[in-house]
Amino acid sequence: MTRIAFLGLGHMGLPMAKNLVAAGHEVHGYDVVPAADEAARAAGIPVADSGAAAVADADVVITMFPAGKHVIAAYRDELLGAAKPGTLFIESSTIAVDEAREAHEMAIAAGHRNVDAPVSGGVVGAENGTLAFMVGGSDEDFAEALPLLEAMGKRIVHCGGPGLGQAAKVCNNMILGISQIAVAEAFVLGERLGLEHQALYDVVSQASGQCWALTTNCPVPGPVPTSPANRDYQPGFAGALMAKDLGLALQAIEGTGTDARMGRLAEQIYAAFAAGSGAGRDFSGIITDIRVAG
Ligand code: NAD
Repeated sequence: MTRIAFLGLGHMGLPMAKNLVAAGHEVHGYDVVPAADEAARAAGIPVADSGAAAVADADVVITMFPAGKHVIAAYRDELLGAAKPGTLFIESSTIAVDEAREAHEMAIAAGHRNVDAPVSGGVVGAENGTLAFMVGGSDEDFAEALPLLEAMGKRIVHCGGPGLGQAAKVCNNMILGISQIAVAEAFVLGERLGLEHQALYDVVSQASGQCWALTTNCPVPGPVPTSPANRDYQPGFAGALMAKDLGLALQAIEGTGTDARMGRLAEQIYAAFAAGSGAGRDFSGIITDIRVAG
């Protein structure tokens, strides 16, 4: 049994914390929003009065915050000073690679250990304990984090040193964002050429255009009954989150001087989608913007 402080009990954090409890760990939670703390208490997770109080006796601190600025501020102002020397910090929020490395350096300078361990799989994956974790950090820290990550996920990949978990996440989501646009454009083009959705799906799903954005997240209703398109793009992976992740990709593209024109364009397309009707809809709803624009 490991004593874990779990900070950030939102859409992802609370079900992840519940899975740690189910695996027999002692979990103390904390969220700055009282309603999130209430939901944790109702789920049987004791909640501390502050982040500092939550981490004081912990062996491992897991953070699941909205963005990098929350991670840096919480590490700097509260958590690193309050934790026992040598505490392992597992940072699972989706943040910029540079922010993950900064958080790592801060943790090391304060006498602690740190891995970045962002996730994919969404709220359903968090609830079912089937998340994928992409981990950056030392071999020793990865080995210590692994059994805890296995309680919350089913695929855990050690991607390399500090920040490389976030690097893998940003690269994956750049592929995902671009490929979802490509599939949506193809369906709109097919519509205008007189092609039935099902016919296009039957061809492409067995051909070289096959991809997750088509066979799992098909942007038109019908061919894949479980895709968000069948429920007016609810629920799913929100356009606002895709816009956020592509903003992080853009930061990485610019920081490395990479010629990633498709990634840059995808960032602009999802930023406009999220600013319009798409913030709370699945990102495959981008097809409605593409139809209107043409
Ligand atoms: P969320 O906004 O529902 O939850 C984040 C929680 O962190 C909030 O309850 C907030 O009050 C809390 N918080 C912020 N600062 C805090 C602090 N200093 N101390 C304690 N609590 C604090 O967000 P979410 O949907 O759970 O996502 C969390 C992270 O996971 C994000 O970085 C997101 O990009 C990433 N992610 C989300 C999904 C998804 O489908 N929701 C999928 C993959 C990755």
